[in-house]
Amino acid sequence: MTDAVIATDNVSKTNLLGLTQKGLEEFFVSIGEKKFRAQQIMKWIHHFGVSDFDEMTNISKVLREKLKQVAEVRAPEIISSDFSTDGTRKWVVRVESGSSVEMVFIPDGKRGTLCVSSQAGCALDCSFCSTGKQGFNSDLTVAEIIGQVWIAARSFGSIPATKERAITNVVLMGMGEPLLNFDNVIDSMNLMMDDFGYGLSKRRVTLSTSGVVPAMRKMIGLTDVSLAVSLHAPTDELRDILVPINRKYPIRELKQAIADYMGSLSDRARVVTIEYTLLAGVNDQPEHAKALVKVLKDVPCKLNLIPFNPFPHSGYERPSNNAVRRFQTLMQEAGLNTTVRKTRGDDIDAACGQLVGQVEDKTRRSARYQALRENQNEVVQVEQAG
Ligand code: SAH
Ligand code: SF4
Repeated sequence: MTDAVIATDNVSKTNLLGLTQKGLEEFFVSIGEKKFRAQQIMKWIHHFGVSDFDEMTNISKVLREKLKQVAEVRAPEIISSDFSTDGTRKWVVRVESGSSVEMVFIPDGKRGTLCVSSQAGCALDCSFCSTGKQGFNSDLTVAEIIGQVWIAARSFGSIPATKERAITNVVLMGMGEPLLNFDNVIDSMNLMMDDFGYGLSKRRVTLSTSGVVPAMRKMIGLTDVSLAVSLHAPTDELRDILVPINRKYPIRELKQAIADYMGSLSDRARVVTIEYTLLAGVNDQPEHAKALVKVLKDVPCKLNLIPFNPFPHSGYERPSNNAVRRFQTLMQEAGLNTTVRKTRGDDIDAACGQLVGQVEDKTRRSARYQALRENQNEVVQVEQAG
């Protein structure tokens, strides 16, 4: 008897949190059960936030015991959870690779947006992003991505379809480049939109990419979520510096990929969101606004300006409110629907680009960055001494 318990403990259990409806159906068939169990169990997991099989009362005791032997419902471990004075909430969770990642909930009237991470760190090295400065450690698993939604939903109480939901929107704008973790991100978004998952409409699930063109093309026909693209510069010359992946996929190719993806959606009224982080003196001048108007004149879009969120030693500054307003006005005068992203959760470092977690860096980028900073400090000290 004891032997049997030890033996099963050694077998790695399937984490049901990370399976889509199709994956769960396959799982149940593989253990000799009927497919419909998938929907039953999904309701328990995603609608009611239950992880203990014993609480799943419409499932027979025999099946519950069987599930306990071979399966589990395991979300990432919560390391901390902070509330901002503006209602924003931030969690830090530990993932299997040993790194920790962050997710943020931003309430705004009836809307509640959850911003989730897709990778621990990021392999792309955008010059103004603190996640990028941490280097890259790992892709998050489906359980780790959807687990962020599960943790947040659970913290607000269970979510029967009839009750007003706290999470109305999910954006993949936390740590990482979602399109470099393609399959896990697609499965996670499917769970967000599945009625037995979180039942969000395709309009309310948004994937943000820095412009991984081949992966944007791969999305066509596979998903119809909303798309946001991080442009940040009106010319290749400047974008090559701010968003280095531009050297591989320049603006012209990026625009074509946007047009192809948006053209693949059944509802032609939907438009891409263009994200543009404003960096003082770098890309926020009237000449940049004029050039941006030209770039976007044939792109049906909403433009979202993000005043830079500073982090130590970034080398960039946030533009003044006047500069932000001037840029917005120039874009609006040119007929572009332009909003400015409100900075939320500043007091708990939960704003865009401030999400850092603790990345067990594999790329040695964080070490190089640290060395560079120390070098800069030495230069400053020498100069001061001289
Ligand atoms: N990797 C994806 C999604 C995560 S970042 C992407 O790059 O699109 C979400 C948004 O925040 C992106 O537009 C990103 O460029 C922007 N961002 C990153 N660092 C920032 C900072 N320090 N201040 C303001 N916006 C930032
Ligand atoms: Fe990665 Fe996005 Fe940050 Fe660029 S802005 S380094 S793609 S997380």
